Amino acid sequence: IQWERQVRSSAELRRPNGVSVLVTGAAGFVGTHVSLALKKRGDGVVGLDNFNNYYDPLLKRDRVKLLDSYNIFVVEGDLNDQRLLEKLFDVVAFTHVMHLAAQAGVRYAMENPMSYIHSNIAGLVTLLETCKNADPQPSIIWASSSSVYGLNEKVPFSESDRTDQPASLYAATKKAGEEITHTYNHIYGLSMTGLRFFTVYGPWGRPDMAYFSFTKNILQGKPITVYRGKDRVDLARDFTYIDDIVKGCLGSLDTSGKSTGSGGKKRGPAPYRIFNLGNTAPVSVPMMVNILERQLKVKAKKNWVEMPGNGDVPFTHANISSARKEFGYKPTTDLQTGLRKFVRWYLSYYGYHQGKAL
Ligand code: NAD
Repeated sequence: IQWERQVRSSAELRRPNGVSVLVTGAAGFVGTHVSLALKKRGDGVVGLDNFNNYYDPLLKRDRVKLLDSYNIFVVEGDLNDQRLLEKLFDVVAFTHVMHLAAQAGVRYAMENPMSYIHSNIAGLVTLLETCKNADPQPSIIWASSSSVYGLNEKVPFSESDRTDQPASLYAATKKAGEEITHTYNHIYGLSMTGLRFFTVYGPWGRPDMAYFSFTKNILQGKPITVYRGKDRVDLARDFTYIDDIVKGCLGSLDTSGKSTGSGGKKRGPAPYRIFNLGNTAPVSVPMMVNILERQLKVKAKKNWVEMPGNGDVPFTHANISSARKEFGYKPTTDLQTGLRKFVRWYLSYYGYHQGKAL
């Protein structure tokens, strides 16, 4: 009963025509920022996360403390727990699900392949089974990934480009997610929006990502490993600042349209959409390191290593004209500005003062 009260209070709307959103992966990097943005504009938000230990669970707990201070309740549980999901839908008639929970990271898939199947395939299907039975059925907006472009070499990447050559199991599960969501859209009339995020970075970011682990090592005087492509070609990424991604998430949610089924019965065609959310300004990895060195005022010790072929692709670059046309998506933060904000957050969170650990 206490639990139900917390869920209800977290889902309360504070604006007319507000929406009630279940955010999966709310203790994660993107999930935290999206939950805050929804709540700040007056929408109802309930989070779900299993607090797995893929990276420091303390960081997840601290993000949730921040969410808690805005009265956002994060339920601890797994996507595969259908009874828990059904209970949540019994308590709140969610209008939308922002599905951001996943096993992320391309390299970890070689260590623990089944965790990708568990969260990105089985977990997704369990969530969709629950959504198809809910009345009303929610619109679903979920995180795919730029990694679906795999070995595609045509740049910039457009949504209609080929995605049949994934370079990692992570990418393969995201691609499968795009197909699985299509079937639920087709059969049950669920409104589906897949967002292909391009290398998202910023405050409260993910410690497994290069910009984050490089910052840590540079500050601790430890070497960093910088991958290079074949023939010493630099890798490049379309780094996208978290606030831009959040705007894309909210814009796509607001235009996602209604599901047309009800209690598992389809009434008509519902939208199925896929959008790139990137920055359209790729930066090479050595240039990213250079920006970090200048902002941290420390020179990095670099080990150059040829890309070992463990899931990474040489470059990414988004064509974002679909998202721009559909909901006015327009990223505004360049890498230098975004990394400055990240570094400021990092130093304060990990207790650095004037460049030294406290
Ligand atoms: P994250 O790891 O910080 O967040 C994901 C959260 O989901 C974590 O808190 C984790 O505990 C939770 N989770 C994982 N499996 C779960 C399960 N079975 N049940 C319940 N909770 C579970 O990652 P992020 O960077 O915030 O990514 C958010 C989404 O965006 C993911 O789907 C990711 O694949 C996708 N994505 C991220 C990026 C990026 O650069 N950050 C790029 C492309 C796609």
